[in-house]
Amino acid sequence: MSKPRAYSVKAYSAASATSPLSGISISRREPTESDVQISILYCGVCHSDLHYVRNEWNFTQYPAVPGHEIVGKVTAVGSGVKKFKVGDTVGVGCLVDSCRTCPDCQAGLEQFCAGMVMTYGSMDRHLEAPTLGGYSQSIVVTEDFVLRIPSNLSLAAAAPLLCAGITTYSPLRHWKVGPGQKVGVVGLGGLGHMGVKFARAFGAHVVLFTTSPGKAADAQRLGAHEVVVSKDEAQMAAHAGSFDFILDTVSATHDINAYFNLLKRDGNLVLVGAPEKPLPVAAFPLIFRRRSFSGSLIGGLPETQEMLDFCGKHNITSDIEMIKMDQINTAYERMLKSDVKYRFVIDMASLK
Ligand code: NAP
Ligand code: ZN
Ligand code: ZN
Repeated sequence: MSKPRAYSVKAYSAASATSPLSGISISRREPTESDVQISILYCGVCHSDLHYVRNEWNFTQYPAVPGHEIVGKVTAVGSGVKKFKVGDTVGVGCLVDSCRTCPDCQAGLEQFCAGMVMTYGSMDRHLEAPTLGGYSQSIVVTEDFVLRIPSNLSLAAAAPLLCAGITTYSPLRHWKVGPGQKVGVVGLGGLGHMGVKFARAFGAHVVLFTTSPGKAADAQRLGAHEVVVSKDEAQMAAHAGSFDFILDTVSATHDINAYFNLLKRDGNLVLVGAPEKPLPVAAFPLIFRRRSFSGSLIGGLPETQEMLDFCGKHNITSDIEMIKMDQINTAYERMLKSDVKYRFVIDMASLK
């Protein structure tokens, strides 16, 4: 493959694990035959962006440009592009390519492909440089990894569906959460608030666990039937052995064993949060009641489109707080304090 020509766009990046984000100029490839060029209008701020920028997972490449909840308008398409045309409203999530041939790719589960290319932090096969994310003015992505945004949804509020949305939709669907089940969601942040909305839309009885008592009224407005303040032992004990399924979205170290005890026999706790440090797991809460502890990673391209279409049909979007690009460092500090209602979204017009 010959190296395509590149053009410059403005972006926001971190130079090291301890640097704040600031303005930079980056290269994007000119669209090749199968590529879609997108002018980015909004980009959601995921806690993974913060983990990555601060090298908490030990694979960050600097300068790091995060952002994988991207929505925008198509500004150019390659000669072989069939699904999109200039002017379309589109989205890009956590993946921008994969090997296309392995069993995972064939099953539409590109997130598990050993050759997946993440929107940031992977190697770009075209430019032979690290991929750079959506805190930028434009991005070029092969058409098979570009998604359609239903026209009835607010574009800014739809951006977080590309990661927070699919990451919670996918495990709830995979484990067939629905009517008659009691479902817990742990943490009311970006992922958690989408988990509450989806679990409610799928017909489950939804209980939200929070460390922030001040979020209780919002949790109910978002769809939770009950709210439990997880630091209150009596409130936790009242739910012992009663859950079919719990979705844990917490971004930091916490006592996971307390949640195993809330599952029924054969109940399942699915971890989607990706804390920096390992979580200690006690054997007895699992083995005595044949409980499961599982994980889940975003979702493949077909399921991400299915989720977006479901959101279009049911009018589901994220509850957002819009920020300007130069407010990103303050937004990160607020996210660390669990002070986010419930997803920051960057208005990319503010990147000048
Ligand atoms: P977020 O908006 O910061 O929300 C995390 C929530 O967890 C907080 O709002 C808070 O909710 C709770 N929390 C934070 N610190 C806590 C602590 N020490 N103990 C207990 N609860 C705590 O983050 P996010 O964007 O939703 O992401 C959540 C996690 O999922 C991150 O680790 C992220 O990297 C990961 N992630 C994974 C995937 C995947 O594919 N598996 C995809 C995207 C993100 P309360 O105030 O309600 O307690
Ligand atoms: Zn994310
Ligand atoms: Zn593959």
